[in-house]
Amino acid sequence: MNDKFLRESFDQIGIDLTDEQVSQLDRFYEMIIEKNKVMNLTKITDYDDTVTKHFVDSVSVVLLDDDIYIKNRFSEGDSVIDVGTGAGFPGIPLKIVFPEIKLTLLDSVNKKLNFLRDVCKELNLDDVTIIHGRAEDIAHQKDTRETFDFCLSRAVGNLATLSEYCLPFVRKNGFFISYKSERAEEELSLCKHAFSELRGKLIQEATFDLPYSDISRTLLLIMKTGNTPKIYPRKAGTPSKSPL
Ligand code: SAM
Repeated sequence: MNDKFLRESFDQIGIDLTDEQVSQLDRFYEMIIEKNKVMNLTKITDYDDTVTKHFVDSVSVVLLDDDIYIKNRFSEGDSVIDVGTGAGFPGIPLKIVFPEIKLTLLDSVNKKLNFLRDVCKELNLDDVTIIHGRAEDIAHQKDTRETFDFCLSRAVGNLATLSEYCLPFVRKNGFFISYKSERAEEELSLCKHAFSELRGKLIQEATFDLPYSDISRTLLLIMKTGNTPKIYPRKAGTPSKSPL
């Protein structure tokens, strides 16, 4: 493992990792590689690639610089839900870097969540809630609906579908952050109706290259402007089959 590369990569996004955070990220890497032998968690297995494409990418939300967002960003006790977390991205690296947040990890595949239960135990991550289910169902539950300060999601679906999964979880004036690549413009142009139905407003679109790479990442910062009508999300499968 190349801790120098890990530290320098995080330094490029303005984060000075503590020794404990370095060991937690390294241990997380080892656990992914070990589990990947028996379960399909990720195609990225090289250490440096994992640092860039999974760890730094997950935490790159610190590069968003909208004023209201910065004032509210990941303060003590903020609730953050990662929808479709898979092997724990972006949720786990974010929790390692910002241990003060209350993190919820949601996925429809329980064996991935069992892996994440082991990760949280091994890395001593407190205040992590793990929920098995589909976003379309879980977002209708009283204890999760419109309760989160932030909803984050990476590589789960097109923006209109994802907005229907994610915006119902966010409280009024909270944020939904979508990790996108170069197709963001096209997706955004198809999302006007979805944002108006679900009460989301795009407040920042930030595109940058991940450190020490030419991999381009676009983050969309969407603010929740009011209550999402109770009919959303529609029943499981509908948001992806017929996006708003
Ligand atoms: N976010 C992770 C990442 O960036 O590496 C995983 C991305 S993986 C391509 C998509 C994940 O979303 C899978 O683990 C899948 O089980 C989950 N997923 C897809 N649709 C979902 C839904 N409707 N509700 C909950 N999880 C879902």
